[in-house]
Amino acid sequence: MPAEPRDLTIIGGGPPGLFGAFYAGLRGVSCRIIDSLPELGGQLTALYPEKYVHDVGGFPRILARDLARNLVEQGLQFGADVRLEEEVLELQPDGEDWLVVTNRDRYPTRAVLIAAGKGAFTPRPLECPGYQALLGRGVAHHVQDPAAYQDRRVLVVGGGDSAVDWVLNLRGRTRRLVLIHRRDAFRALTHSMKLLREGVESGEIELLTHREVKALHGEDRLTGVTIFDNRSGQEETIEVDAVLALIGFKPDLGPIARWGIHLEKHNIRVNARLETNLPRVYAAGDVIAYEGKLELIATAFSEAAMAVNHAVHELNPKARYSPGHSTTLKLFKDRDEAAATAQ
Ligand SMILES: Cc1cc2nc3c(=O)[nH]c(=O)nc-3n(C[C@H](O)[C@H](O)[C@H](O)COP(=O)(O)OP(=O)(O)OC[C@H]3O[C@@H](n4cnc5c(N)ncnc54)[C@H](O)[C@@H]3O)c2cc1C
Repeated sequence: MPAEPRDLTIIGGGPPGLFGAFYAGLRGVSCRIIDSLPELGGQLTALYPEKYVHDVGGFPRILARDLARNLVEQGLQFGADVRLEEEVLELQPDGEDWLVVTNRDRYPTRAVLIAAGKGAFTPRPLECPGYQALLGRGVAHHVQDPAAYQDRRVLVVGGGDSAVDWVLNLRGRTRRLVLIHRRDAFRALTHSMKLLREGVESGEIELLTHREVKALHGEDRLTGVTIFDNRSGQEETIEVDAVLALIGFKPDLGPIARWGIHLEKHNIRVNARLETNLPRVYAAGDVIAYEGKLELIATAFSEAAMAVNHAVHELNPKARYSPGHSTTLKLFKDRDEAAATAQ
């Protein structure tokens, strides 16, 4: 039996997915969010929960996980149905509507908003013996809880913002902290590199360039790692409790690429109403391409607002495209007055 139908099904619970759910509720259409991850928030919670975001309007500085929490509170206030740890595999036509098929269930919907970012996350693996067996047993691709690295011997692999920032974040917590990178040029912010050099000079961080991982060791848990110098081939085995492989993600739309949607490289082509080439299928956020597109949270919000409001108008041509101003909407006025009375 397919699940209960919804007006709008949002694929992806990142910033535009959650903001889209808010607009769906504001416009009075029923909504469901489906995400393959165990937690809402997209990249904010999966990739950089402990980083400060500085370029979201209205927040001079906010931790990514706090921004995600706010988005969840705002996005789910109208009761959107949430399905986590389900990957959307197919989008099947169902008369004028759609059937969103996941690895667990089938969800009838009148319209779809694809807010799938770079696709279901696929971190770049370490191509070495021991990786598959020790993933999740000392080897990780992101930090859920920095406290887990307290007094541990940690080796971080990578040369981008993520690797450098996590080394700086873990500095002072760990028993030993080693950063290896396969080149000597880094892709991190100038200020972060300055802090990294300071950490190396103070002896808190060991930095080894032109090094790559050759093998990971351990039975039930990681106990060591063999690295090699990619110029001389010289090998060295280091005892470690944790390896953080922060070497990026593969852009992989996965099943989405097979739904008959017009793509531009790894992104979905949309028009000015954020429509794809499929009827009543919209897209927003990092997953889309249009001239001048910026992959930012700020633009993702605006795209989600436009996509959902156009979808509402498409579903009910009598409904205006513009949602009006939230400051004057009766929906919020009633709530604000009730809250004021309760105080
Ligand atoms: C380290 C880092 C720092 C950043 N800092 C900033 C910053 O300071 N300011 C800024 O504006 N932006 C920043 N960004 C970019 C910002 O995070 C993204 O632009 C934003 O997350 C895009 O949101 P999204 O929902 O499109 O994609 P995502 O956040 O990637 O969310 C997409 C969601 O869709 C889910 N999904 C994908 N495919 C499927 C499927 N088939 N089935 C089910 N679920 C699926 C994924 O699991 C994911 O949760 C940063 C990114 C990174 C990596």
